[in-house]
Amino acid sequence: MRYAIIGTGAAGFASIEAIRSLDKSGEIFMLGDDPHGFYSRPGLAYFLTGELADKSLFPKTREDYARLNFTYQKARVTKINRAEKFLLLDGKTPLPYDKLLIATGASALPLTIPGANFQGVVKLDHLEDARGILSFAKRGKTAVVVGGGITALELTEGLLARGVKVHYLLRGDRYWSNVLDEHESRIVEARLQEEGVTLHFHSELTEVIGKGGKVGGVRLLNGKTIKCDILAYAIGIKPRAELAQDAELALDRGILVNEFLQTNDPDIYSAGDVAQVYDPITGRSVLDSLWSPARDQGRVAGLNMAGQRKSYIKSAPFNVTRLAGLTTTIIGAVGHGRDEDIVGIARGDSETWRQLPDAIVAQGGFDINRVRILVGEKILIGAVVMGDQTLSAPLQKIIAQKVDITSVRDKLLARDAKIADVIVDFWSKHAAVA
Ligand SMILES: Cc1cc2nc3c(=O)[nH]c(=O)nc-3n(C[C@H](O)[C@H](O)[C@H](O)COP(=O)(O)OP(=O)(O)OC[C@H]3O[C@@H](n4cnc5c(N)ncnc54)[C@H](O)[C@@H]3O)c2cc1C
Repeated sequence: MRYAIIGTGAAGFASIEAIRSLDKSGEIFMLGDDPHGFYSRPGLAYFLTGELADKSLFPKTREDYARLNFTYQKARVTKINRAEKFLLLDGKTPLPYDKLLIATGASALPLTIPGANFQGVVKLDHLEDARGILSFAKRGKTAVVVGGGITALELTEGLLARGVKVHYLLRGDRYWSNVLDEHESRIVEARLQEEGVTLHFHSELTEVIGKGGKVGGVRLLNGKTIKCDILAYAIGIKPRAELAQDAELALDRGILVNEFLQTNDPDIYSAGDVAQVYDPITGRSVLDSLWSPARDQGRVAGLNMAGQRKSYIKSAPFNVTRLAGLTTTIIGAVGHGRDEDIVGIARGDSETWRQLPDAIVAQGGFDINRVRILVGEKILIGAVVMGDQTLSAPLQKIIAQKVDITSVRDKLLARDAKIADVIVDFWSKHAAVA
């Protein structure tokens, strides 16, 4: 049996571990066009700030690779020939397969304004992008950041840490309006301002201006200009589904897969950021750009490719991240509507977070330590925990396991409820019984 894996990310790597756990002798080929192979993409934010050295981004050792006994080939897959079951590498070399996994991830949506190709216009998809940003930051004094979600703030924090002054442009009137509530947005904005970031609300970029193909500033819709040497953008991502489209696999916003992560071609599977996966919470097929689901999907796809029949059960998506230096956990469904700063989803984001059904909001805490929970009829549907993370782990479990909270529902919704105390008490009793 010959397995081909397109993509060297979390999903691709996890699929190889799963295949090898069942099939000791099959041939496995991993193909990737990132010169650095498998590394932690979420870690890039900490690499930018200088908290992580680049070698800490690589979680696997030489021994791990040897143990898994697969062939890694740095190549871009340019075609999938389904009829004859082979891939074309770099437009010339054929590679036959029996089972194929497409785990090609997603890439940043491009800026499409005049001057977007100037030197100094940057994004953060991979390690080479991060290195490029650091080299611009050495010479640059001022940056403009546009976009929303987590990546725009990671770019901001990284640039600040390197001594660059940052202007952050928002199209709307608050940060990440379809995931955070107004209070949470204001907390993040206040922290950015304390760090010295200049926020520009209701601001839309129309043009990059400069000389000799280099960024010198940006022009806004209201005619105003801001001088800068760097323009960093994070306006959303797009699944890298071109190969699948060309091969006429079923697509929607990403590659459509069934519960076994199989596409409409039974020998081709898909997992990770490129796959659009059924979500039992909402009853829809959704996109995530999250490390844990990518890894879990890769694992389940690998098991199925190697002959096991295993369903992928999507659990409530969560992310523990930092927003303007403030640790924040986002779990389940927490918001809805449109955020003008992101098209579709961003990195470290899930469509599920914005598909909030009927739920009552309860919130507690003060200043930066804050918790917001979305209370359904019998279960908690989602939560945002900012600052103090004591509630993060219990809430992840209560939401993912759909624990019946009927016994404390009224307490949670009571006026002036001490939500943290109620949850901690409920969880300790529940855990003792379970
Ligand atoms: C800056 C940043 C911050 C993030 N922060 C978080 C976070 O806080 N929390 C979180 O959970 N997630 C976060 N993520 C998202 C998370 O990293 C992704 O969800 C995860 O890496 C997806 O894994 P994947 O295997 O699907 O795709 P990827 O890791 O994107 O890997 C896909 C691979 O396929 C390769 N490829 C694509 N097309 C081809 C082709 N035709 N031929 C050969 N190779 C190809 C690419 O080069 C790439 O190496 C972040 C991502 C970034 C970039």
